[in-house]
Amino acid sequence: MQKLIIIGGGVMGLSIARQLSNAPYNISIIDRTTPRMNASYAAGGMLGAQNEFFEATPLYRLAMQSRALMPHVAQQLQRDTGIDIEFQCHGLIKIATEVTHIENIKKQFSFLKQDDHHIQWFHPKDLHRLFPHLNPKTTAAFKIQDDGQIHANLYTQALTKAVISQKNTQLYSHTEVTHIEKHRDGYTVHTSQGAMMADLLVIAAGAWSGKLLSDIHISLPTRPVKGDVKLVETQSPILKTTLFNANGCYIVPKRHNRYLIGATSEWDNWSTDNDASNLKWLDDKSQEMLPQLRNHRIIKTWTGIRPITHQEVPIMGPINPSLFVATGHYRNGILLSPIVGQLMAKAIQGDVQALDTLQPFTPNVQQN
Ligand SMILES: Cc1cc2nc3c(=O)[nH]c(=O)nc-3n(C[C@H](O)[C@H](O)[C@H](O)COP(=O)(O)OP(=O)(O)OC[C@H]3O[C@@H](n4cnc5c(N)ncnc54)[C@H](O)[C@@H]3O)c2cc1C
Repeated sequence: MQKLIIIGGGVMGLSIARQLSNAPYNISIIDRTTPRMNASYAAGGMLGAQNEFFEATPLYRLAMQSRALMPHVAQQLQRDTGIDIEFQCHGLIKIATEVTHIENIKKQFSFLKQDDHHIQWFHPKDLHRLFPHLNPKTTAAFKIQDDGQIHANLYTQALTKAVISQKNTQLYSHTEVTHIEKHRDGYTVHTSQGAMMADLLVIAAGAWSGKLLSDIHISLPTRPVKGDVKLVETQSPILKTTLFNANGCYIVPKRHNRYLIGATSEWDNWSTDNDASNLKWLDDKSQEMLPQLRNHRIIKTWTGIRPITHQEVPIMGPINPSLFVATGHYRNGILLSPIVGQLMAKAIQGDVQALDTLQPFTPNVQQN
């Protein structure tokens, strides 16, 4: 059987491995398992297929397909692992509280309503009748009915549990890849626990992927975008629908009157520490949207490192017949993981249609 190594046990590496559970490979997933040095455990869990896009790009189409897959993924993970990833779909309200963002969300609404007749622009009077807790100064808002959400941390845990139970898969946690060597027929992956040979190698190491690729003289740089996040609890429910401000601050209602408030975006910052001024920004902006959040109890705060490429478009597909990459999903990796898992697994097995779908994201790189 061919040996396939996946570097990275985030949602990308795990979703690919899960889709290969019946494929004739001996699969090893390697992850250093360092808290906060990842994105998947830290994410808000929004499935913002419409919230995140302003035009009908190939990525938008994948995002819409992936969002449609998530209810089934949630059911399968519940069945296979017993973990409920808390899928829910009460929609998302996009708002602008700053004048400079109003034109932008109006444009986005015009684009989205071409394909979605359920999308709804609110007259300010209706907005405050329907959502009495919203700041009365909110003047521009529309609702996307079908952008749901999951609990990203539980999702990543469930995917991990699912792949561990696969007969053809082994997870090497607490194992750091130090460097990679290319041979004529494959790769040697040097790790903190020793060297491993691969006939096929998949790099799904999030923001760290570019560094690993540079070992084998492939220039596909990836950058980190650090995010601070805060989870709070209120005494009684104040919101069911996700609120997303065009200024980047969002409030995602979780179970038991808990609200995930995200997220700052700091480019090229590898730090894993919460920053006091970032947490203050989250408080200020979230309470400006929803004044009732002032009376909250902090459950916890954390950070995560989003992976982004220089072109801000994910890299997905084969670099050569034995090397595959899946990274750069920036703010949408949770949303995109079901479809990326399917397409990458098929591409690894040579499926022409999947390779074709991934083609807009497959870089043509010169290798030395
Ligand atoms: C604050 C925040 C909020 C977000 N909110 C959302 C959201 O609401 N919706 C959404 O769709 N997306 C969201 N995202 C984005 C999403 O989380 C990411 O796009 C996605 O998790 C990327 O997954 P990944 O598997 O590529 O990377 P990661 O989750 O970073 O996984 C990469 C893995 O590679 C491992 N690794 C790296 N280098 C090495 C090495 N040398 N050796 C061994 N292991 C290594 C790391 O340990 C890590 O586990 C958010 C991200 C953040 C940070």
